[in-house]
Amino acid sequence: MTEVVGADAESCRRAGAALAAGRLVAFPTETVYGLGGDARDDAAVAAIFAAKGRPSFNPLIVHVADLAAAERLGAFSATARALAARFWPGPLTLVVPRRADAGISALVSAGLPSLAIRVPAHPVARAVLAAAACPVAAPSANPSGRVSPTTARHVRAGLDGRVDLIVDGGRCAVGVESTVLDLTGETPTILRPGGVTPEDVAAVTGGPVGRAATPHAPSAAAPLLSPGMLASHYAPATPVRLGADAADAGEALLGFGAVAGATLNLSPAGDLAEAAANLFAMLRQLDEGGYRAIAVSPIPDRGIGLAINDRLARAAAPRGD
Ligand code: AMP
Ligand code: MG
Repeated sequence: MTEVVGADAESCRRAGAALAAGRLVAFPTETVYGLGGDARDDAAVAAIFAAKGRPSFNPLIVHVADLAAAERLGAFSATARALAARFWPGPLTLVVPRRADAGISALVSAGLPSLAIRVPAHPVARAVLAAAACPVAAPSANPSGRVSPTTARHVRAGLDGRVDLIVDGGRCAVGVESTVLDLTGETPTILRPGGVTPEDVAAVTGGPVGRAATPHAPSAAAPLLSPGMLASHYAPATPVRLGADAADAGEALLGFGAVAGATLNLSPAGDLAEAAANLFAMLRQLDEGGYRAIAVSPIPDRGIGLAINDRLARAAAPRGD
């Protein structure tokens, strides 16, 4: 059974030393728990993919302590620096050209000439990174394709015995994964919506912000056009039905706002940040409830609601496995 330690200074030092020694450590960030390994170490990075059952073509995000450390790994344009200055530390991942002398395992970015880099804000993540004193590759600490973990208990439920140490820093405040912003092309493009919104990015760049085609929640105005195109991900075992007004027989209702009859409510007050923070934990709870399906209330598609709807659409997508 994997050892779970608290988030005191001594435990963070121990976690950092384990990472530096090539071991895998799960630790909290402000988004979700990460499954960390030394990003320079081929064996550690390969172990991350193996522990998650993650396909090797899906690249990992490298976590570092600050912009100076990030610039040793990737080429930062003036735009990239401005975005880092505004949003780091925080839930924004920047995809930039990889430096030839980055010293990062080629496995991390699945052979791509770019690198995805983030500086997390969570004090425990920062303490662990400082103690490790190396760039740390860290995808979400869950088996590939399943719901991301927002507590140490979630990590253990999915990866017990597959990770050397879990640092328990309580619940993650943001609750959905970082925004992934690709800066390798002409126009900054959001590859994955998250806590930093397109409007937030545009406010810094002053120009257009692209959106990679992502699944969207179906509504009367915008029905789900091609569900077959959606990569199943973030998926509970129970089927998920989106845009629901009410639960059908045998279904749980995951509500949002002032809906009657919700089994659980992401945010009775209709607060999107609260809903994001509750999303994965509530999906897990309902997944364990023996329901036929999880029906989910419509979520406004703005701000962090974009990220919630992206994850929900993938949770509801036809399962590949
Ligand atoms: P996760 O590690 O589960 O938080 O997922 C990381 C996300 O970042 C995935 O959607 C990856 O496809 C994306 N990503 C990581 N590295 C790159 C890269 N070099 N270029 C584009 N996307 C990336
Ligand atoms: Mg993930």
